[in-house]
Amino acid sequence: MPKDGVVTRFAPSPTGFLHIGGARTALFNWLYARHHGGRFLLRIEDTDRKRSTDTAIEAIFDGLNWLGLEADEEPVFQFARQQRHAEIVEQLLDRGEAYRCYASPEELQAMRDTQRAAGQPVRYDGRWRDRDPADAPKDVLPAIRLKAPRTGETIIEDLVQGQVSFQNEQLDDMVLLRADGTPTYMLSVVVDDHDMDITHIIRGDDHLVNAARQSLIFRALGWRPPKFAHIPLIHGPDGAKLSKRHGALGVDAYRDMGFLPEAMRNYLVRLGWAHGDDEIFSTEQAIEWFDLDHVGRSAARFDFQKLEHLNGHY
Ligand code: GLU
Repeated sequence: MPKDGVVTRFAPSPTGFLHIGGARTALFNWLYARHHGGRFLLRIEDTDRKRSTDTAIEAIFDGLNWLGLEADEEPVFQFARQQRHAEIVEQLLDRGEAYRCYASPEELQAMRDTQRAAGQPVRYDGRWRDRDPADAPKDVLPAIRLKAPRTGETIIEDLVQGQVSFQNEQLDDMVLLRADGTPTYMLSVVVDDHDMDITHIIRGDDHLVNAARQSLIFRALGWRPPKFAHIPLIHGPDGAKLSKRHGALGVDAYRDMGFLPEAMRNYLVRLGWAHGDDEIFSTEQAIEWFDLDHVGRSAARFDFQKLEHLNGHY
């Protein structure tokens, strides 16, 4: 595979079943990679040890297998890469792009309370950013924070949302490594996407502000950020955020109800993407036609009856 080929990934947190939204994200990434003759990878984001379960990991594998969305390489487990993540934080410290923050949880809570009471935005105020490390208290383990730009803006050229800009003053000096030595989600995602050579990140638009934060980390490391495509979330037919009461279940439940994977794929790809008025098409056609230019910017609506209707054509 050429180094400049498209590489996408699906990066679920294994905390529950593979739901409709996750399956659609996986499908878009898979189709985009297939359309461009690239690679589709899977990363299990299992760093939240309390909420990640083996059952959820199995449900993700089963659901993807059933839908025929197999990854081109062995899955990457994020938790197993903690050492690598921590090493990268050391590099950022060495480069002066990060610093140790010795503020205790109580002190940070007091800072937030004061900000709230004064009607100010609640965010870390950079109190250890320029402080002499010689002042460090002996009894507090430091967290490591990114020395993020204070002024200007971070612009994301999103392939679905267009140009989106964030004021840097609103993106505070985020924690990269917690005081207990564990890397944060924000840092781990960046290191993994870099190491996996990801070229395109296609995911739900609830991650849009994370793209700004992550691109600051990419830049601090001197790495080129991937391209981002944030797809609108899925709503129920009533316009509310999709939930079980709309009949939205884990994909395994649809399999058990007798739905066919082809019908499910056909249904999922049309949740937010359209190819003219075509309603029923094969996976080969979806691969041929899929692009990000025709992903809509407004929330797609899940409709169980439409899914049933479509299934009847297969
Ligand atoms: N693990 C995240 C989630 O399940 C996705 C992270 C990403 O795609 O960057 O919401």
